[in-house]
Order: sequence, then C-alpha cells, then structure tokens
Amino acid sequence: MFPKNSSLLKSTALIGSDWRAAQDGATISVHNPSTCEHLGDVPKMGAIEAKEAVDAASAALPAWRKQTAKARSAILYKWYQLLLTNSEELAKIMTAEQGKPLAEARGEVAYGASFLQWFAEEAKRGGGEIIPAVKDNTQVRVTREAAGVAAMITPWNFPIAMITRKLGPALACGCTAVIKPANLTPLSALAVIELGKQAGVPDGVINIITGDSNAIGNVWCADDRVRVLSFTGSTEVGAKLAALCAPTVKKLALELGGNAPFIVFEDADLALAAKQAILSKFRNAGQTCVCANRFYVQSSVYDEFLSLFKNEIAALQVGDGFAEGTTIGPLINQAAVEKAAAHVADARAKGATVLFGGERLEGHFFQPTLLADMQEDMLPSCEETFAPIAPVYRFDSEYEAIARANATPFGLAAYFCSRDLGRVMRVSAALEAGIIGVNEGIISTEVAPFGGVKQSGLGREGAQQGMDEYSEIKYTLIGYAGSA
Ligand code: NAP
Repeated sequence: MFPKNSSLLKSTALIGSDWRAAQDGATISVHNPSTCEHLGDVPKMGAIEAKEAVDAASAALPAWRKQTAKARSAILYKWYQLLLTNSEELAKIMTAEQGKPLAEARGEVAYGASFLQWFAEEAKRGGGEIIPAVKDNTQVRVTREAAGVAAMITPWNFPIAMITRKLGPALACGCTAVIKPANLTPLSALAVIELGKQAGVPDGVINIITGDSNAIGNVWCADDRVRVLSFTGSTEVGAKLAALCAPTVKKLALELGGNAPFIVFEDADLALAAKQAILSKFRNAGQTCVCANRFYVQSSVYDEFLSLFKNEIAALQVGDGFAEGTTIGPLINQAAVEKAAAHVADARAKGATVLFGGERLEGHFFQPTLLADMQEDMLPSCEETFAPIAPVYRFDSEYEAIARANATPFGLAAYFCSRDLGRVMRVSAALEAGIIGVNEGIISTEVAPFGGVKQSGLGREGAQQGMDEYSEIKYTLIGYAGSA
C-alpha cells in the first residue's frame, strides 16, 4: 500500500540547498488514479522559482564541472545503490500515484537505477583524443566538456526512469540540472532526488521544482544560461519548446511520441509473436511511448495469430496496481479514458470488429481490447492511443507492410516477427524508426541508445551516446612554440 509515513515523501521542492514551498504557498494535489485517494500536495511554483533554480544550478556549475570524473562517478554509484535499497518504498509510491502494477513499478525502479550505474561507469570514460596533425610541431587535441546547465522536463508514464535517464549522463558529464517532473507524478521524482542528496550530490547541482509547466518552461527556454533542454513528452509540447529554445540556440534532446508498428510475417513463430505483442502493447496499460500502436499481420497467418493474441489478452487482469495478480492498472486520468473510448468508437463506426474488450470500466479503468479489420482512416491508425487497445490490420506483401508501417510522421520504435534472415535484414533496414525490435517486444535497456527519428525526437538517451547530449566537443590546436 501507499507508504504514507515514508521519509522519502516530500511536499516541498528543492532549489539550491533548500527544500521549499512555493513563494505564495500555492500547491498542487496528487491523487491515486486507481482510487482517486488524495496522496499529498506539492508546491505550485512558477516563473520566479524557475529563475531561482537556474541561479542555483549556475552557481553550482563551476565547482561540479571541476570535480574529478572519479568523484562524480562515486556519487552516481552511491545514488544507484540507494535506489536499490529503497526499491520497495519507491515502487509503492509510484504505483500509488501512477497506477502501474507493483511488479512493473519495481521493474521501473531497477531500470531507473540502471542509468545511474551505467553513467557512473561512463563518467570515467569521457576522455578525448589526439588526432595526427597536418603541420609539424603541432598537436590536434579533442576534448569533451560539460555543456552547462541542463533543463529537464519529464512525463508521468515513467516517473523515475525518465529522470535518471537524463540526470545520469548530465551529472556524469559535469552539468548541473533544473528539473520539472510531471505534476501528475511528482512524488516519485522528489523521492529520487531526496536519495540523490543522501548520496552526496552537492547543493545546487540538482534543483527540482513542481508547478506551472508553461511558466517554468518559458523561463528555462529563454534563459541563456541554460545550455541544454532535455524534454520527454508529447511531440506537440516538444515542438513548442524547441521553438522557444531557438533564440538562445540550446542543445536539444527531445524524446517524443510514437506510433509503433508491430508486423507479424507468415514465417514468424506465432506463439512467440503473440507473447511479445502482449509485452509491447500492454505494459503500463498501453501508456508507453514505445508501445506497439498498430499490428500488421500477413493474410496467410491472420486468423491464427488473432486467435493466439486473443487468448493472451484474455489472460490479462485489470485491477488496482497493489492487488495481487493485476497486470493492467488504471489509465492516468479521465481524459485518457475518454481518448481510449473515442478511438474504439471511431474504429467501430468505420467497420472494425471488436474481438475482445472495447469498453470502459468504472473509474479510470479500460478493458484490454482487440480490434480486427482495421483500416488506415480509423483514429488508432494515425494517433498514439496510449491505452490497452490493440488494433490489427491485414497485409499481403513485405513491401506493403513496410510502406504502411512507415506511413506515419513518427519514428520511435518498430517491431516485427520473422525467422527469415534475409527478411530480418531487409525489414530492419527499411523501417523508419530509431529502435527496432526483431522477435522482441521489450527493447528498453540502459546499454542501448534510445530515441526516435522524424517527429519522435532528436538525440539519444542511455548507452555511450547518452553522454553526447550533455557535452560539448572542444578542438584545441597546440603549436609547439620555442625551439629544441
Ligand atoms: P506532455 O503533455 O507533453 O507532458 C510532458 C511534460 O511536459 C510534463 O512534465 C508536462 O507538465 C510538461 N509540459 C506540458 N506542457 C508544457 C509547456 N507548455 N511547457 C513546458 N512543459 C510542459 O506529455 P505526457 O502526457 O506527460 O506524456 C505522454 C507523452 O510522452 C506521449 O506522447 C509519449 O509518447 C511521450 N513519451 C515519450 C518518451 C520517449 O522516450 N520518446 C518516453 C515517455 C513518454 P505537466 O503535465 O505537469 O503540466
């Protein structure tokens, strides 16, 4: 249950060394999406506190970037260990405010912690290189330096991992940070930062504020001292923030929305495909940016796959995230339920068949749903559904599947199932996405670069590439003045 006496639960935000309320005392209430229970309040801060947070991060920058990589690494490693020792408490806070089943919340804590571990290791490997010079008595030296203050704005669907995936590399590189977590799930975020303080992150290196997103985003995008904006969320908000950052020419890392295809070819292992489809589609009740959003199934195996997939869906259990056996929790709020219902209604009206589910349940719950006979003019085809709804389309040729999969402005993840090596190579190359899962429905890991193409974003998080977003490359040409 919700650990209401946990020392990790915060009702204040962190600027410099102070955990503070909003200057006018305003607050935002946090609720459990499953029960609507009031869980707590966090400060409703705005432009004033947003600027103060940047002041604190700027003041802390010179000392933090001068720390040895080894010292920064040690703090990140300690923080990683603290996440693991406090895993159960963090997972319960997350299930309470976000709704995901406790087992998934535990998985997210481990996944979130893995970025701190990975970047604790990467921190020590950020050296540079010497390039053979073209002139005698000179050296071409290339080094990496901290980009500066990084602003981070994160979503509610992965309230811990989306923060550590940014803070790990930022701190490893020597950047300081200002963060605005989603107001729907601030308690997990504040708890993680509290553990960062316990791990020894110096004052001002991390500042986290909750409140008026618009006002906070405007201040951070306009402030020239902020050199990186790292945003995870919708394409609509990401594009708006990118435009606001243009006048101060910041580095941009944008992890945005997706519309992932999942293609099942006739040579696939269909039972495996159905299991991977479940993992890809129904994790977090369908509320992940890499969720399969459209299932394309080859005509010759269409009926067989649908039957296997339907059996797997029927085994899912909707319920409160704390209840034993729950595999599908609530959607995040009423608007998400309305959107899910609208997607099913639109598909149904245009000729889709509901093979399973299709209905909203009491509160914020929605039945896991299987839609067949889908067409491209139906809503789930063109918009991220972000709900436990699996729409299935029929196709005939490989060429057709690729063309239909790519017919979207998004390009985050794409999945397909096949046992034909030639096809695996051809289709992997042809799909327009930053992440490809072949016979695998779960692709997220700290060791691989995560990110999208087209309107799904810019830059990569995790892996070695994750360091690029928070570092600048400096080239120094050194002439050997004097004579031997
Ligand atoms: P969202 O509405 O774009 O919000 C994301 C964050 O931006 C929240 O902290 C939100 O704050 C803040 N925000 C909203 N409007 C803002 C503004 N005008 N200025 C500054 N900040 C603003 O997205 P969401 O509904 O939370 O998350 C779902 C979306 O995130 C989906 O599209 C999903 O695909 C995407 N996502 C992408 C990835 C990835 O790695 N590519 C990962 C996870 C999620 P408040 O909500 O507190 O106001």
